[in-house]
Amino acid sequence: GKGAAMVTAVAYRLAEQSKQISQILSEFRLTTEQLLEVKNRMRVEIQNGLSKSTHESATVKMLPTFVQSTPNGTEHGDFLALDLGGTNFRVLLVKIRSGKKRSVEMHNKIYAIPLEVMQGTGEEKCTQTTTSTGQEHAKSVNTSMQKAEIFKRIRTKQKKDFCFTCSQLFDHIVHCISDFLDYMGMKNARLPLGFTFSFPCKQTSLDAGTLVTWTKGFKATDCEGEDVVGLLRDAIKRREEFELDVVAIVNDTVGTMMTCAYEEPTCEVGLIAGTGSNACYMEEMRNVEMVDGDDGQMCVNMEWGAFGDNGCLDDMRTEYDRAVDDLSLNPGKQRYEKMCSGMYLGEIVRNILIDMTKKGFLFRGQISETLKTRGIFETKFLSQIESDRLALLQVRSILQHLGLDSTCDDSIIVKEVCGIVSRRAAQLCGAGMAAVVEKIRENRGVDHLKITVGVDGTLYKLHPHFSLIMHQTVNELAPKCSVNFLLSEDGSGKGAALITAVGCRLRQELNS
Ligand code: BGC
Ligand code: MG
Repeated sequence: GKGAAMVTAVAYRLAEQSKQISQILSEFRLTTEQLLEVKNRMRVEIQNGLSKSTHESATVKMLPTFVQSTPNGTEHGDFLALDLGGTNFRVLLVKIRSGKKRSVEMHNKIYAIPLEVMQGTGEEKCTQTTTSTGQEHAKSVNTSMQKAEIFKRIRTKQKKDFCFTCSQLFDHIVHCISDFLDYMGMKNARLPLGFTFSFPCKQTSLDAGTLVTWTKGFKATDCEGEDVVGLLRDAIKRREEFELDVVAIVNDTVGTMMTCAYEEPTCEVGLIAGTGSNACYMEEMRNVEMVDGDDGQMCVNMEWGAFGDNGCLDDMRTEYDRAVDDLSLNPGKQRYEKMCSGMYLGEIVRNILIDMTKKGFLFRGQISETLKTRGIFETKFLSQIESDRLALLQVRSILQHLGLDSTCDDSIIVKEVCGIVSRRAAQLCGAGMAAVVEKIRENRGVDHLKITVGVDGTLYKLHPHFSLIMHQTVNELAPKCSVNFLLSEDGSGKGAALITAVGCRLRQELNS
């Protein structure tokens, strides 16, 4: 009768709906063949970046870092380190002791930096320069609670115009250093400093490098093409309060590799899977064509986040990847990074959810203001939603907390979407890493390579499945390599100090 017909209609609609949902998600499922293809394409781009004849137009820049050896245990002294470009801006004091009782002691303070606020709110276009350098927000914060509060304050206080000029940015950085030196009682120490600057930098020596382009939602346009160390030195001079010796500029991947290599000499690769995505490794000098000399090795900052910027990954990008890219502060750039780093995974998820809601599969077809808000799904929420220990009810309460009113069915779908997006991210990252270790294996001319990769980053550390899937992918795609992943704690601080120590030693050798 009529009732049966209605039941059939509902059943039909549900079946049709779930078919369409899996169709949307199927685009995110990469086959082994596709992943092998990603690995091979990465190998091509690596070569393009290294070779002089193709370097200029290469997307994966393979930037020389002028770090030519990993630590040997003789590093010694007190160093300052700056860490800009990760989740927090920090100033650190690192005390390295060599000898029998090797040790590294660190003190650090986290500072709120207005530019960080930009990260979640990239719609704001840079149209005018703000007068505030945000110094009043430069409160150092010790607990994450306090930090969250200060961030909230900044968010509500400054709604628009997160544009800063380069000198404002560096004045702010130096202001933070000043505060830190007061706090430590070290204003007169003239310490050597290592600057972990987690953006692509074209280096000409350990202590000189120009910013190629901002990434990860940072924007201070007039910095691009400028010598970052010069900017820092100038800002220190402007303040006329203390002196520092800027010895090294360091990418976070390199700091991570060095920190790990300090404990484990087989570590010759660094990986960041966090807000951004990138890797570095020890390449043979003869292959680093952009630097003269054929002997020994040099660490190369791959800047693999830009992989795909020439369109070579377009056949695997979905309409959601394109939407995330289009709405970002740097459209067309860092396409691989936008598929596999913490800053963008939540955005991909959000775009899928919007589309599914439009199609009436989610949230009763209602697109809420929350869902329209960029940056709501931070890595930590994805990690929570995907946690195996979480009951669906808890998923619903997380969504509720984000301001998304979900039914039980909604929460099942949201969890599935998150899982599929982060799985693809881990696999893509693994495919990139497989290309790197294979390259090193071929450099060495060995059938089998044992190697250690130092890793850091919020996605790697916080996400419940990312690391495992990434490891599995590397094993599968690079079967001739045994890759050991080692979590590198605080590479940005410790690693910068270790590199600074080496830099100081080299200077002394040159002067004597
Ligand atoms: C930057 C890299 C950095 C990576 C991880 C990317 O956006 O371009 O220099 O290593 O993020 O922080
Ligand atoms: Mg060379």
